[in-house]
Amino acid sequence: MRALAAPVLAVCGLIASACGGADPNGAAAGQAAPATSASRQETRPQQQESQPQQQESQPQQDSAKQEQPPEAEPLDGKVIVIDPGHNGGNYRRPDIINRQVDVLTEKKACDTTGTSTNDGYSEAAFTWDVSTRLARILRSRGATVKLTRSGNTGVGPCITQRAAIGNKAKADAAISIHADGAGPKDHGFHIIMPKKIGGPVDKVVGSSGKLGLAVRDAYRKGTGVPYSTYIGRDALDYRSDLGGLNLSTVPKVFIETGNMRNAGDAAKLRSPAFRQKAAVALADGLQHYLGA
Ligand code: ZN
Repeated sequence: MRALAAPVLAVCGLIASACGGADPNGAAAGQAAPATSASRQETRPQQQESQPQQQESQPQQDSAKQEQPPEAEPLDGKVIVIDPGHNGGNYRRPDIINRQVDVLTEKKACDTTGTSTNDGYSEAAFTWDVSTRLARILRSRGATVKLTRSGNTGVGPCITQRAAIGNKAKADAAISIHADGAGPKDHGFHIIMPKKIGGPVDKVVGSSGKLGLAVRDAYRKGTGVPYSTYIGRDALDYRSDLGGLNLSTVPKVFIETGNMRNAGDAAKLRSPAFRQKAAVALADGLQHYLGA
């Protein structure tokens, strides 16, 4: 650095205008870059803030769009609620999560801790990771996405609240992401859809069934995980005991993405590359259902 000081001063002496106090960054040659990025921010402020990843991964497309209005994305105008099952702090507060809540067909615990792989990778961490990947993908396709929790260190919310978040958002589709804790020989994935219970969910039982089929087909195709060997028929199951479904007034399904207690499934669920593949598949299923 010291060796450079003299030549730099010499240049400054010769070209005074380039070295004055007018440029606080001290880099006259760099002035073009901030100006470019500033103009990009003016034309697409929202996308800049909410989709930094897309910005990074598609710089060419971005610069090509600079002087044109943003192109329509397939999920523009769609609202999707993602519910990452359980929460990483649930085990610390049994007093909260064991509180009984009314799910219309019965009373049950506000939430549960979820399961884990035999070597301790928790379902809550898994669902959070897949959900945040899925949110990024859906936002990059134009959707408005809301998650039912904001991290993986908190407690809850209760299953009743998880349903209420989808309802309040008037979601076009909602999905609750889980992994199962079944017997060690059981494997594969399944979708859980609501049943008619003589309650508010009845009017979305049909649409939830369609959503379930779309998500099942996309997940099978996108991940190669086989249909569950132990629950449902062709990976489709219908239940009336889940608060997250019974209390939903928007089309909603659960997915049990695999069995964390099965060695083969657990190896997949533990893999970040697999989780990305799963997130893309779920996005494709949601998009297919939404007709986009
Ligand atoms: Zn679960």
